[in-house]
Amino acid sequence: MNNEIINLTRKYMSRDFYEKYNYTETDLGAIVSKDKTSFKVWSPIATKVTLNLFKDGKPNTSAYKKYSMELGEKGVWSYTVDEDLSDVYYTYSVTSFGKKTQTGDIYAKACGVNGAKSMVVNLKKTNPTNWKQDKFTYDRGKQPIIYELHVKDFSHDENSGVAEKFRGKYLAFTKENTNFKGTNTCIDHLKKLGVTHVQLMPVFDFATVDESKNKNEFNWGYDPVNYNVPEGSYSTNPNDGAVRIKEMKMMIQSLHKAGIGVIMDVVYNHTYYDDSYFERTVPHYYYRSTSDGIQGNGSGCGNETASERFMFTKYMIDSILYWVDEYHIDGFRFDLMGLHDTQTMNEIRNRLNQLENGENILMYGEPWSALEPSMWKGSIPANKYNLDMLDTDIAIFCDDTRDAIKGSVFDAQSPGYVNGNLGLANRIPASVMAWCCDYAARPSQIITYVSAHDNFTLYDKLVMSVTKNQEHFVNTNQDLIQLNKFCASIVFTSCGASFFQAGEEFARTKEGDGNSYNSSPEVNRLDWSRAKENEDLVNFYKDMIQFRKTIPVFMDKNADPTTEIKFIHHSTESMPSYIVSFMVKDNKNKDAVVVYNPLSENVEYELPKGDYKVICDGSSFVKKSPVVKNTVVVHKNACTILKKVK
Ligand code: CA
Repeated sequence: MNNEIINLTRKYMSRDFYEKYNYTETDLGAIVSKDKTSFKVWSPIATKVTLNLFKDGKPNTSAYKKYSMELGEKGVWSYTVDEDLSDVYYTYSVTSFGKKTQTGDIYAKACGVNGAKSMVVNLKKTNPTNWKQDKFTYDRGKQPIIYELHVKDFSHDENSGVAEKFRGKYLAFTKENTNFKGTNTCIDHLKKLGVTHVQLMPVFDFATVDESKNKNEFNWGYDPVNYNVPEGSYSTNPNDGAVRIKEMKMMIQSLHKAGIGVIMDVVYNHTYYDDSYFERTVPHYYYRSTSDGIQGNGSGCGNETASERFMFTKYMIDSILYWVDEYHIDGFRFDLMGLHDTQTMNEIRNRLNQLENGENILMYGEPWSALEPSMWKGSIPANKYNLDMLDTDIAIFCDDTRDAIKGSVFDAQSPGYVNGNLGLANRIPASVMAWCCDYAARPSQIITYVSAHDNFTLYDKLVMSVTKNQEHFVNTNQDLIQLNKFCASIVFTSCGASFFQAGEEFARTKEGDGNSYNSSPEVNRLDWSRAKENEDLVNFYKDMIQFRKTIPVFMDKNADPTTEIKFIHHSTESMPSYIVSFMVKDNKNKDAVVVYNPLSENVEYELPKGDYKVICDGSSFVKKSPVVKNTVVVHKNACTILKKVK
């Protein structure tokens, strides 16, 4: 029992504190102009705050100047220097409860190496050429097709076709016409694939890769330090705080030019350090504690932030709006969204909608937490069970669909519908309808997927659940490649937003590493020689994506799958109920029939009335096929698609 924390939490959540100290202006941080620089920091608990200025951003250097800040309204300390302090580094020394600590600015827009010091930045100078014209437009009613990507994975491989000095960096995204032995790599590969968005794994400043060394370090980046600053290790010079900003903008500009939207993976739910800049600025305000006054740990990473507290809600909103405005970000994926409260999530949605074309900006998240959250009473966790409390334009990753198709993520060997558990056939129609027959109101609420950075890659999962032969990780097995196609077929012929992990389209392997967050870059990198080797699989993904785009019920966020998808029921001995099939209209109002055959033998399928042409035989898209009627052979372990011609 920690009574001090319990009393402090009560104080922070009291009406009195709310009225006295909640600050609504948007001028926190350092704001620079031609002849002055103003600094503002919210810290109602502090008894003294000093501004320290530095010539460089390295840790442990001495300040060349110190200014005592003044306490104003609402607990905001401020100081204005009558100078343009662009490129000057700074920290605050904050004294609270008689204890003095030095901290970076939680509102910093730039920082030095490893985020140790904040930096004053003239953002105009960080804009690449033609940045003003940079634009990506996406129809708010249309489902995205999202590719989950890690900046370092993308181009670390020597076969990426990117020059060595740009490998693993933001600038790799600006290199066009790259290939491995004639097969497209990097951004050309993405263009060819036809995805509408990439979701970048953390690109804000995180802790665990040492930016000062050009070592072969790797981390996914779910260890936040500076939320409003790009990660430095992906830049060509992390020592100059302006460089990472410019290079990240160049990456975004290049993706936009390729017609691809950029989604940021945001991790507001916890900080890497318990003694973070938040904690040093206002002790115990930004974090939850349990009813015993013990630090909450719903993230499983040692702490959890308190989205329900006014100044952290504000922080999340300010941060999101900043990334949209300054970096032209097109969507946000919220890590452990179940640790945030529904009210905060809805407020962010609402604030985005108020922007010009703001309704096009995607919002979705993981509808769970690692451990039980210590949310303040009355707040509602934004998890799967409270989906009906969230705006319908906030989507959730659908673990039901993921596990129904290829088996549980928690047990490597446990199969799904595609790889041997036919008992899961009864969950496939709901997956196809994005659970709109059940807990979802609209397909806009569901992310349909089978693989993400967490857990095994799809191909590895198939190895471990089917052949169980470790040699198949590296030496790809064609039966497993077929199952990979089958999984993708179900994802792309289902409602909800389509989502897949980078490399799923070329049977990416991490050789059975199910949690590669700090494994070597060699384990994590996209192996572009594998893209060449499995070009047939890549082409299958491309064709499936193209097909998906022609079917309105799959692409329309607000479709009603329960009426627009017509399931075909046979269930006879020759046509067991394990075979799931349905009819949908294409964008020319023609009927398409989709048949999933999870059996290990071909089946003669009874067609509905009419003349049909096979457009996908389960392993590839067919250019020319004879007219079939009455029956068609649907291949084993595959999805067959036909179009009605008469
Ligand atoms: Ca960093």
